[in-house]
Amino acid sequence: MIIPKANKLSKEQLKAIESIVGEFECNIQVITGAHKNIYAIIGDERSELMVNRLVGLNYISRVDRMESVYKLMDIRSELAGHEIKIGGVTLKKELFISAGHCTIDPKNPQYFLETAEAVKEAGAQAIRGGIWKPRTTPHSFQGDSKSLDVLLEAREKTGLPVLTEVMDEEQIKITVEAGIDIFQVGTRNALNYSLLKQIGKYTAGSNTAILLKRSRHMGPIDEFISAGEYIVSGGNPNIVLCPRGTMPNIDGYRNHPDESITPLLKERTWAPVIVDPSHAVGRAIYVPACSLAAIAYGADGLNIETHINPQKGIGDDPAQSVTPDKLAEIIKDARQLWNSPSRFV
Ligand code: PEP
Ligand code: MN
Repeated sequence: MIIPKANKLSKEQLKAIESIVGEFECNIQVITGAHKNIYAIIGDERSELMVNRLVGLNYISRVDRMESVYKLMDIRSELAGHEIKIGGVTLKKELFISAGHCTIDPKNPQYFLETAEAVKEAGAQAIRGGIWKPRTTPHSFQGDSKSLDVLLEAREKTGLPVLTEVMDEEQIKITVEAGIDIFQVGTRNALNYSLLKQIGKYTAGSNTAILLKRSRHMGPIDEFISAGEYIVSGGNPNIVLCPRGTMPNIDGYRNHPDESITPLLKERTWAPVIVDPSHAVGRAIYVPACSLAAIAYGADGLNIETHINPQKGIGDDPAQSVTPDKLAEIIKDARQLWNSPSRFV
């Protein structure tokens, strides 16, 4: 739908837009209003280039597309019935909780192994643990490949699927080889389209699930869904969207909590939504409230940083990890809310 700046286009202007859309096998249908005309694009109007050329004309105010730019992630796509299974859980049918350390400490692996058992006991269905970490400064601990063995040991001992973040092709290859169940794309790489394509390609045809966090710098909802489209179009439809807070932060919180975008995502895409309350608020005391808000907004699950002894943790754990006891309370409350009529579905 093309909206002109003036009340209507001149004959020459109309000819010009007809010529542009014609190159993309579309036509223009003029809709004559009492005061203003608008110009519908008839045909496949998804071409970015066509829209950019129209928007570039100085007599055009804006161009609204009726169809979404993402074909596979769209709620109307044939993938809408696709079921994603992680361990024994079918997402969207049952509340899914993944919990564990921000960062595995390879020098003190016993903390992670104890946490893994404790989060299982608390009711989590997957264990998270960072092997390689995207840190703001190169002087902070960057993670260590030795932690892969610790993560695999935790999987072996608990029988639960495991999640870790990958940031480059080398890490993707190692985690594919190790059969890691869930790959996380963190907030910093959610806009790294080459990485998203590689993840789609390397995990195509597998059961690996991809937890795509929302970039701190993503505004439009469509930008987030389109990032997921890269992974799905690369060959892996097991995509899960993860709001985790954006910038600028609310003074006092680590980010600007964004669990409330969940229903907006669900209007447009079939992909399950698992919210990360830990990075959204950044302090353990606010994590329970943020978790329940996320479930109330219709989230399908939570990804919660949890540590057996947060003060002994590294990375984000001392500030934002909850203890397994607290996790058990959150899970209990979240399950109750999941079944309550006040939850948005
Ligand atoms: C994390 O999960 O520990 C992490 C680094 O996440 P994010 O990319 O959301 O900051
Ligand atoms: Mn973290």
